[in-house]
Amino acid sequence: MKTINLKAFRDSEKLKGLEYSIKKFVEKIGRTINIMEFCGGHTHTIIKYGIDQLLEGYIRFIHGPGCPVCVIPSSRIDLAIEIAGQKDTILCTYGDLLRVPSSNRKTLLDLRAEGYDVRMVNSSLEALNIALSEKGKRVVFFAIGFETTTPQTAVLLLKAKELGLKNLYVVSNHVITPAAIQHILNSPEIRDIGKVEIDAFLGPGHVSTIIGTRPYEYFSEEFLKPVAICGFEPLDVMQGVWLVVNQIARGEAYVVNQYTRFVSREGNIKAQKLVSEVFELRKVFEWRGLGIVPYSALKIRKEFEAFDGEKSFDVKLPPPKEHPACICGKVIRGVALPTECKLFGTVCTPQNPIGSCMVSSEGACAAYFKYKRL
Ligand code: SF4
Repeated sequence: MKTINLKAFRDSEKLKGLEYSIKKFVEKIGRTINIMEFCGGHTHTIIKYGIDQLLEGYIRFIHGPGCPVCVIPSSRIDLAIEIAGQKDTILCTYGDLLRVPSSNRKTLLDLRAEGYDVRMVNSSLEALNIALSEKGKRVVFFAIGFETTTPQTAVLLLKAKELGLKNLYVVSNHVITPAAIQHILNSPEIRDIGKVEIDAFLGPGHVSTIIGTRPYEYFSEEFLKPVAICGFEPLDVMQGVWLVVNQIARGEAYVVNQYTRFVSREGNIKAQKLVSEVFELRKVFEWRGLGIVPYSALKIRKEFEAFDGEKSFDVKLPPPKEHPACICGKVIRGVALPTECKLFGTVCTPQNPIGSCMVSSEGACAAYFKYKRL
């Protein structure tokens, strides 16, 4: 396994050099540059290390919809709660989702406290083991995540089929990053933030280990936006900023890979094949904050429909509701900062999250609460 010397990515002299160079480029361009970081991991790095303050007046960071827990709409949490409440059912999912409030403010954790069998798993294969040991129960894996976690769910479905399991189901909430970026670029209401256009993107590092850098080439070519795929250390992010600002200063737009230690142009072909064997594109899927985004999520292929929880559970839900004061949708679109929410840090905290952006540590509200609370 590769060992990485993290000190090399936190070198203060190199950071100062990049700061100087970025500011010089921006002075040459003659205006503040607006960069959307798509990944919650980048938001976390930017806020934790004060990169936004370091580059204040030069770079405006716009926090995009880059946290899979944050972008899951209430309707899907309602669905999880409804399924988990059914007789002889065990619902398994990744930890953060358990704390996201549904339309009626109930969480999966509340349901567990009421005696329902809701379990946190760290890997999809834990759901397989539960299904094997609980033959009298219907075990549902409520799968969420960007391209990074989808291959694991694909492996779960392949194994379930191979073993001929009759009591395992998957509800797929897997979403696709490039489709959301395209939606943002195609939507003037989202793209123009107070009439300020997004100039460039920092592309997600983890997602790109799977899909590679190639899917982003379309954005650079079609929308003339520079994209830097970058890692999660302070120097990674600063280099990413430098790489896009450099392009803007020269009137260029292409995809550049800063995260070469883990990301290639082609990505992980084996993982991509696993995913395409089991999943296909959904025509539409709702994202919190972005609304319905075409071809932005994955559904289970017909060959695996016996395991498809959405087809196997007959669930009728009333229309979803959001908390009236929560502005998660605006935070996810990048049109409001967490601190602009009336509930931030008072009513809404990581211990008592009102909206999804305060739940996951990758959410913008949680990052602001941890590092920017005055
Ligand atoms: S602070 Fe809480 S209520 Fe406000 S937008 Fe963030 S998650 Fe929603």
